[in-house]
Amino acid sequence: MFTFRENVSLFPYNTFHMDVMAKYFSEINTIEDILDAIEAHQLEKLSENGPLILGGGSNLLFTRNFTGLVLRIGNKGIEAVAVGDESVFVKVSAGENWHEFVLWCVDHGYGGLENLSLIPGNVGSCPIQNIGAYGVEVKDAFYSLEAIDLKTGELKVFTLDDCHFGYRDSIFKTELRGKYLIWSVTFKLRLNPVINLEYGAIKQELSAMGIQNPGISDVSKAVCNIRKGKLPDPEVIGNSGSFFKNPTVGLKFAETLKETFPNLVSYSLGNQEVKLAAGWLIEQCGWKGFREGDAGVHESQALVLVNYGNAKGSEILTLAHRVQNSVYERFGVKLEMEVNVV
Ligand SMILES: Cc1cc2nc3c(=O)[nH]c(=O)nc-3n(C[C@H](O)[C@H](O)[C@H](O)COP(=O)(O)OP(=O)(O)OC[C@H]3O[C@@H](n4cnc5c(N)ncnc54)[C@H](O)[C@@H]3O)c2cc1C
Repeated sequence: MFTFRENVSLFPYNTFHMDVMAKYFSEINTIEDILDAIEAHQLEKLSENGPLILGGGSNLLFTRNFTGLVLRIGNKGIEAVAVGDESVFVKVSAGENWHEFVLWCVDHGYGGLENLSLIPGNVGSCPIQNIGAYGVEVKDAFYSLEAIDLKTGELKVFTLDDCHFGYRDSIFKTELRGKYLIWSVTFKLRLNPVINLEYGAIKQELSAMGIQNPGISDVSKAVCNIRKGKLPDPEVIGNSGSFFKNPTVGLKFAETLKETFPNLVSYSLGNQEVKLAAGWLIEQCGWKGFREGDAGVHESQALVLVNYGNAKGSEILTLAHRVQNSVYERFGVKLEMEVNVV
C-alpha cells in the first residue's frame, strides 16, 4: 500500500549530510506500493516535476528543500535464478545494499564484482552511472534489469545493449532520466572467477598482505583496504566520492597539453581519445585541501568535495563551479560533475 509522510528531513539519507526537507516522503518496499501510487496518480499529484528516487543517497547533492515526493527504495532479496556450466545468474532487489551484495557474491565464490567492493549505495542505483573502480565497471557483470515505467506502471526488462552503458553513464542518466524506477538487477557471475589485478595498487596491497595466489575474497579485502586508506569515510566527513568525472579529450589536444604540462596524468582510450585524471588537474590549480567555511576539497583527494559539518549544498556547488572554472582557464578542459545535483 502506498503511504507517505510530510515534511521529512533528508539528513539521514544522504552522505553529504545536507539537512534539507522533503515535502512528501514514501518508503517503497513492495511492488504494490509503487503500483498503487501510479494508479492513484499520486506521483503527479505530489510532485509536479516527477518524484525523486532515493537509494543510499551517496551520489546526490541537495542544494535546497525538495518540494515534491521522494521515493526511498527498500525492496529486498537476492536469488540465484539460473546456473550454467560457467556462470550463475543472480537477481537482486534494488533496495539491497551494494557492498553487502558484493560480500554475498564473494562468500558464495561468484566472481566478477569483487573489485567493486565498498562502493556506497544500493543495487538499484549501480546501473544509473555504471559504477566502476579498480579496472571493473558494473556493465562487465551486468545481465539485465527490471524497471517500472513511472507513468504506466509497466515492468520492463532492459538488456545490456538497452542500457547504453558508458563511462559513469547509462540511458537512465540521459534519454530515460527520471522515467523509470529500477526494481531489480540480474548479474552474470563467474563460477570460476578470473582475478583482475589490472590496477597496480591491488597487486601492491596483496603483496603487503602477504598473498601470492589471491582469490576473490583476497581481492575484495585488498580493495577495501585501499579504499579505506584513500577516501574519506562519509560517516565522518560528508562527501559523495568523486565529484567530477575524468574528462575525455582528443589525442591531439592531449599531446599539446603534454608539451606545456609534461607531468599531465592521462590514459589512452585508443580510438584517438585520451582520459585525463581530473584529480591531477584540480590539484594543479591549487585546490587540494582548500576550505572555506565547512565546504572544502579533501586534503588528500582533490576529486572529492567535502562537507566538514554545516556546509550548505549551495556552498558545495559554488565551490564546484569555482573548481570547474579554474581548471578550464588553466587547461582548457571542461570538468563534468559526476554527482547528481538536486
Ligand atoms: C565515499 C564514496 C566513494 C564512492 N566511490 C565510487 C566509486 O568508486 N565508483 C563509482 O562509480 N561511484 C562511487 N561513488 C558514488 C556512489 O557510491 C555510486 O554512484 C552509487 O551507485 C550511488 O548509489 P546510491 O544508492 O547511493 O544512489 P543515490 O545517491 O541514492 O542516487 C543516485 C542517482 O540514482 C537515482 N536512483 C537511485 N536509485 C534508483 C532506482 N532504483 N531507480 C532509478 N533511479 C534511481 C537517483 O534518483 C539519483 O539520480 C562513491 C560515493 C562515495 C560517497
